[in-house]
Amino acid sequence: MNILREINQTAVRYPDRTVMISGEERLTYKDLWTCSDLLARALQRLCKDDRTPVPVYGHKSPLMLICFLACVKSGRGYCPIDISVPWSRTMQIIESIQPPFVLACEPPQRAAGGSVSFLEEDAIRNLIQEEAGKEPITLTPVSGEDLFYMIFTSGSTGSPKGVQITSDCLNHYLDWSVVLGTTKEEKEGRVFLNQAPFSFDLSVMDLYTCLACGGTLYPLTKTQQSDFRLLLPALAASGASVWVSTPSFADMCLRDPNFDSSLLPQIRLFLFCGETLTNRTAQKLAGRFPDAVIMNTYGPTESTVAVTEVRITPELIAAEHPLPVGRSKPGTWIEIHSPEGIRLADGEKGEIIILGNTVSPGYYRRPDLTEPVFFTAKKEGQTVRGYRTGDEGFLQNGQLYYCGRIDLQIKLHGYRIELGDIENNLLKLPGIKSAAAVANMRDGKAKSITAFLVSEHRPEDEFGKALKIKQQLKEYLPDYMIPKKLVFLDQLPMTANGKADRKALGGMLS
Ligand code: AMP
Repeated sequence: MNILREINQTAVRYPDRTVMISGEERLTYKDLWTCSDLLARALQRLCKDDRTPVPVYGHKSPLMLICFLACVKSGRGYCPIDISVPWSRTMQIIESIQPPFVLACEPPQRAAGGSVSFLEEDAIRNLIQEEAGKEPITLTPVSGEDLFYMIFTSGSTGSPKGVQITSDCLNHYLDWSVVLGTTKEEKEGRVFLNQAPFSFDLSVMDLYTCLACGGTLYPLTKTQQSDFRLLLPALAASGASVWVSTPSFADMCLRDPNFDSSLLPQIRLFLFCGETLTNRTAQKLAGRFPDAVIMNTYGPTESTVAVTEVRITPELIAAEHPLPVGRSKPGTWIEIHSPEGIRLADGEKGEIIILGNTVSPGYYRRPDLTEPVFFTAKKEGQTVRGYRTGDEGFLQNGQLYYCGRIDLQIKLHGYRIELGDIENNLLKLPGIKSAAAVANMRDGKAKSITAFLVSEHRPEDEFGKALKIKQQLKEYLPDYMIPKKLVFLDQLPMTANGKADRKALGGMLS
């Protein structure tokens, strides 16, 4: 698979086909191809030999998509940043990249200070227009190891880390995702639902599988997703055939009795990734959409979206508790290792290790974070990259089962969160001496986060102080990372080796 070639072929064969719908706006394949070509040349003129990835700031707009492809075609790769990311975190990401400029498809939340320049929508459109009148310059063809995109995920130290995904990673991933659950022909020209913002790698599953199949992307906006009165009509209007979301999002939709095959008569395929798909959710969904194929997939951003698959049938739902996450895709090997790095046998629980052609080359400019978890190994005569996931699981006859984490990373409503990220950002606030964030678990899933705090002076009005801290925290953390509850203590309970005693704190959760 070569995703750029596929998009080009669709643009030639079906120039007027819609590639993305956004409100009243419709972007055609022809316009996507032509505008991204022109913008790529303009970027090349502007940046010359500087191949630093370009941050693309916005929210699910066709212009964002044009910018993504333009960055890739110009040999730079892009880093999507959603407008919901707090401004200080946005700037943290941008400063860690040090790009020549940011392509801002939405107005920046604040006037950007310092050396970073934001090219806003009008400037981007002007670049495209002006380039159309110039003598074309030749662009260097994209090579397999060139960066395609870079997605920042929560980092335990309090700063997000950039996972680099190359063209080869994405193309190998797409070889598999286009035949995931249904054939490529069955996906051809269909509508793909997009739930996740482009700054989460789950969106790669719908966005690029859609583009590889000449389909139409139908994004659900943040506003639609937070209001049922808007969500259900939006779903009904989508005409979607392929559904991609976290199980949490499907769970939320299932709360409405009208969410069934009569609302979405074209749905043929549900693709899930990112967190545990429970038997309950799967059963409800299968009951409401009896003719659709339901697939569970598993994988971290570091291995390009997902690397295992399993079809969730009524028989499997009845036979397996919990549900497996599946068998590895072609070009991928899954192993289970002990803490000493010894490969374990079938049925033995240990760390899930992913090896293969979609594993990232590592975190952007962070050899300190890359070296402990990424490695290379020989597999069937070839050298492949490997990644230690930090996930716990076991294999049984080639089928992978997920059992949780071996560290302090959690998934909350489908979002990947390092509890250390919350703690370190709490410690930035005035008067906070120590902090420990703990997940409230139910049925093996995180339901909310409680943070335990020790402040210089125990507040008299703890409720009022908690509200203030949550407000202050919003400066640094996205909404989904803000603890639901803050509890003030005189001191944190400690383990014998001087760390916060999370077990004891867990016992204090109500
Ligand atoms: P992200 O990088 O945001 O995709 O998050 C990756 C993490 O989500 C993995 O390391 C797992 O802990 C979790 N995860 C991904 N897929 C699944 C799944 N199907 N079931 C359970 N957990 C999952």
